[in-house]
This record gives sequence, structure tokens and C-alpha cells, in this order.
Amino acid sequence: MATIFDKIISGELPCDEVYTDDKCLAFKDITPQAPTHILLIPRKPIKSLQYLKCEDQELMGHLLLKSSEIAKAAGLESWRTVINTGAESGQTVFHLHIHIIGGRKLSWPPG
Ligand code: 5GP
Repeated sequence: MATIFDKIISGELPCDEVYTDDKCLAFKDITPQAPTHILLIPRKPIKSLQYLKCEDQELMGHLLLKSSEIAKAAGLESWRTVINTGAESGQTVFHLHIHIIGGRKLSWPPG
């Protein structure tokens, strides 16, 4: 079943795009939890970290590298990257995504 993020990738749903290339897409979260809250998703429909395969190693490296570039391009010097995995962790959209959150002091531990 297509997720909201599949529909954003296909262009069926709009997004506030921040970055795009042939492997991934980044856009602003619709319900930001901080002044900067960007979602970075692979174009490949991977449900979560739980379903990664060995063949995804290069893609995951690409995503982490891009997450850093995107955070810095957004003017952040300090930020948090979050990948919720599974419903109990808070994952609501089952298309792998990296949250890039910053622009305010973030507390720890997470809730
Ligand atoms: P999760 O809870 O699965 O880790 O994160 C899903 C994120 O997607 C949430 O932060 C939520 O606000 C965001 N989100 C859900 N639907 C949409 C949408 O249609 N557009 C955008 N830009 N973000 C969305």
C-alpha cells in the first residue's frame, strides 16, 4: 500500500522541497517540532530500518551524508537526526525517513 511519502515522491501530493537527487528527497515536516524540521527519505520504498538489506548499504551512507549537508545548508550547527523504527518508537509513516531537527535546545532523554 502506498504511503503518504510514496505519493510525495510521485508528485501526487505536494511538499515543501528542500533537496532532491536521484536517490532521495528532503522536504519540510508538515507538523514541525522545532524551528527546523526536515524529513529526508529514500526514493526506494523501504518500510523502516527493520527491513534494510545489505544492498542498501551505499544508499544509507548517501542519506546520512546528505542529512549533514542539508542540516548545514539550513544554517544549523547543532541538530538531531532521528529514525523512528516501528509503531512503539513513534513511527507513523512506514516509508523510511530521517528527521533533521534543530533550531532550538533539544532535551535528552527523548520521551
Ligand atoms: P514518524 O512519526 O513516522 O517518525 O514521522 C512521520 C512524520 O511525517 C511526522 O513528523 C509528520 O508530521 C510527517 N508527515 C505526515 N504526513 C505528512 C505530509 O503529508 N507532509 C509532510 N511534509 N509531512 C508529513
